[in-house]
Amino acid sequence: MLTREQWTGKFVDVIARASSQLPPDVLVALERGRDAEEPGSLAAKALDSILTNVAMAKGNWQPICQDTGTPLVWIHHPVGMSTRMLSGAFAEAVRQATGKQLLRPNAVDTLTDRNTGNGQGPGIPTVHCDEWDEGHVEVRMILKGGGCENCGAQYSLPNTKLKADRDLEGVRRCILDAIQQAQGKGCAPGIIGACFGGDRGSGYVESKRQLLRRLDDSNSVPELDRMEREILEQANSLGIGPMGFGGKTTVLGVKVGNLARLPASYFVSVSYMCWANRRAAARIGEKGDVTWLD
Ligand code: SF4
Repeated sequence: MLTREQWTGKFVDVIARASSQLPPDVLVALERGRDAEEPGSLAAKALDSILTNVAMAKGNWQPICQDTGTPLVWIHHPVGMSTRMLSGAFAEAVRQATGKQLLRPNAVDTLTDRNTGNGQGPGIPTVHCDEWDEGHVEVRMILKGGGCENCGAQYSLPNTKLKADRDLEGVRRCILDAIQQAQGKGCAPGIIGACFGGDRGSGYVESKRQLLRRLDDSNSVPELDRMEREILEQANSLGIGPMGFGGKTTVLGVKVGNLARLPASYFVSVSYMCWANRRAAARIGEKGDVTWLD
């Protein structure tokens, strides 16, 4: 069994990968977007610059963007492991990664308005621990930029302005509205994580958890799979394009989940992730052996 210090080291490796190595499915989606745009257009140039930046960050193991985002991590662990130890080790990993310039000092004390200087503070990082029956640990994390976080939105249905009722069509209208409202801000092309149901807090958490999914996966719920594909197509017909320059590539992926709700409430929570969809996942065995996951 690894010590807390050894866990911290493993988590630093996961953070380094998330910060500098864009997942292959995101790269493919960006290349496909660039190839779909008019050659020489602002949209094509923006996507070309993004792809050059991604390649440079990958080669040098340096952050893909100056805003290294908020670290959000979901850890599955075997029965009997201390969640306090794992959470503490991950927070320490964020401090160490910040010291190594894998992350920017990104945490500001909201009372004093001073930067904590080490990338960590109450609520940063956000660590979710879940016990499972497997014998290994699985870590899945994202780094979520501030600009795209500002483009998140939450709707309470019914919504008369959007003519959105408490049904899947209402959910679709809300998600498409959030993309329309963003107008390319939050560094489009974006990836949409959405959740309908839950309360205001759990809905947003689930919408962010959806961002752990690969862009080319399929939703196991046929209605939601249809909705994801439909919204992707409709969003890319809006003409907003990369960074709002116009074009065909406004969104790279749409991922939708759902939670139970109270009879009185029906929330649709939308989290907008920028093109810098920094995601990393690893399986870590009892002896510390690491297998990288998609
Ligand atoms: S929204 Fe994303 S790509 Fe844009 S500045 Fe923030 S982290 Fe970077």
